[in-house]
Amino acid sequence: MKLTKNLYFYPEKGMLDCNTYVIKDETSIIIDPGLTQFLPELLQDLHRDGIDPKDIDIITNTHLHGDHCWANEAFKKASGGKIILHNLQKKFWEATVTQTSRFFGLPAVEFTPDSFLDNDKLNAGEIGFELIHSPGHSPDSICFYCRSDKILICGDVIFNQNTGRVDLPGGSAEQLKQSIERLSQLEIEYLLPGHMDIVVGREKVKNNFEFIKKHVLGYL
Ligand SMILES: [Zn+2]
Ligand SMILES: [Zn+2]
Repeated sequence: MKLTKNLYFYPEKGMLDCNTYVIKDETSIIIDPGLTQFLPELLQDLHRDGIDPKDIDIITNTHLHGDHCWANEAFKKASGGKIILHNLQKKFWEATVTQTSRFFGLPAVEFTPDSFLDNDKLNAGEIGFELIHSPGHSPDSICFYCRSDKILICGDVIFNQNTGRVDLPGGSAEQLKQSIERLSQLEIEYLLPGHMDIVVGREKVKNNFEFIKKHVLGYL
């Protein structure tokens, strides 16, 4: 489903999947391909929007919990794209990939990143993102912020009327509060979380931050 000129949204397809976002530009990017078992459906959805997986150059993630990155390797095979992550996702690999899999009694996700970004920018062409480190749900959470189009792809940091959980390895309620406080200062028209509904419209996004600050953060 097309959200803006360059941005597509694919809602999660079931338990343990996640919302997927695709940026179609000079360099095309998929953020969080989700669970491998839903990949055939995701590829059909892309096809319906006129996107060939081979158009995708970069596979990246908001954070490395299995529900977001399980299909990284399979999508890499289908697309020929490269898995490019933030260098903090390398730094916190042990907590986010290894220990979190153990926490759920699951095998650790296996994939091979091609490279790690050592700056906080990812440019696709017309659209460019600032990468904002937003720990709390996981130590490696990165939000993708496009200032010109007022888009925030926020992973599991913020949801519609909720926040990500903070009880997984490397999680911290205090850090989550600070991250959300920082993100709430940004101008956002499209708040695009890793699960459940998206929040569209400046006023609705503002109200969502207020709701979370009032009803969720105080109780974490
Ligand atoms: Zn997560
Ligand atoms: Zn998730």
